[in-house]
Amino acid sequence: MITLIKLSSLIIFVMLNKFTSDYVVLCISISSFSQLKSMKIVRNLELHIIHSCNLHCESCAHYSNQYHQGLVTLGEAAQWFEQWQGRVQPISFSLLGGEPTLHPQLAEFVPLVKKYFPHSKLRLVTNGFFLERHPDLPRFLRSYPRAELHISIHHDSPEYVSHLQPQLDLVFQWQQEYEISIKILNSQKYWTRRYYGVGSQMEPFADNQPRQSWENCPAKHCLQLFQGQLWKCPPLAYLQLQAKKYSLSEYWQPYLNYTPLSSNCTEPELHEFLGREDESYCAMCPSEPQIFSLPNPIENISVK
Ligand code: SF4
Ligand code: SF4
Repeated sequence: MITLIKLSSLIIFVMLNKFTSDYVVLCISISSFSQLKSMKIVRNLELHIIHSCNLHCESCAHYSNQYHQGLVTLGEAAQWFEQWQGRVQPISFSLLGGEPTLHPQLAEFVPLVKKYFPHSKLRLVTNGFFLERHPDLPRFLRSYPRAELHISIHHDSPEYVSHLQPQLDLVFQWQQEYEISIKILNSQKYWTRRYYGVGSQMEPFADNQPRQSWENCPAKHCLQLFQGQLWKCPPLAYLQLQAKKYSLSEYWQPYLNYTPLSSNCTEPELHEFLGREDESYCAMCPSEPQIFSLPNPIENISVK
């Protein structure tokens, strides 16, 4: 639910993320609001800047556990932002992957988002393992008044924690020095299965209850900007990568037929797209949350 509060010179949007219990707040001046009111407000727009990941979390919603390669360049991102700037106003803009710290130009995405979506809250979501490669990152984050660095923890074994500890120490040093906002997310605690198997053996759920799948979906507010188009969620967007790399079974075909929204859409088309809740595609997801204990994803490190 989005709540709108109007004060004398400010308009405040308040949104509750029911999965993390976080409140997301967007404050904008009345004068900015008049420029923004023609845009469609979206809760969360995500840019997955790289397809590879150093971890292999079973049932990763972005399929980044399945050995994909490739990244989004700053030039591509700027072009996509240009196409959607002025049409959608994300309350929250998320940079993630794959593992975003594997992108050599990660830090430069921060000012790029600030340039095109200055009213959004920026979330950079990372597993944290390669933060030391980005010494400019805290300086850029500090310059973005509403930026947050989210460190997502994917296992609680001593081995995992000892690998991550030097990066956590660095993050807390950045927090002291640059006063940036840090959140530690215990992602493994809420881990759910999104599909069965991996690679060519991967199969969708067949519960055939799309409404219930959507209602229980942790990704239903994770609108993706991918290849310059808007996609409903990560499992539909990056299924394209899976199909290019693996020989997927016929059961995926209906979901591979999903059509994203292009930036040359009309305003009514944009309005209709953003208003969709469950669609037939949601049938590929579980109708009830499938909680399981995530095996240690560090045991399978393959990308360095
Ligand atoms: S850390 Fe895990 S969940 Fe996140 S992108 Fe990598 S494989 Fe997926
Ligand atoms: S297809 Fe529907 S239920 Fe599945 S992840 Fe996307 S929004 Fe959620």
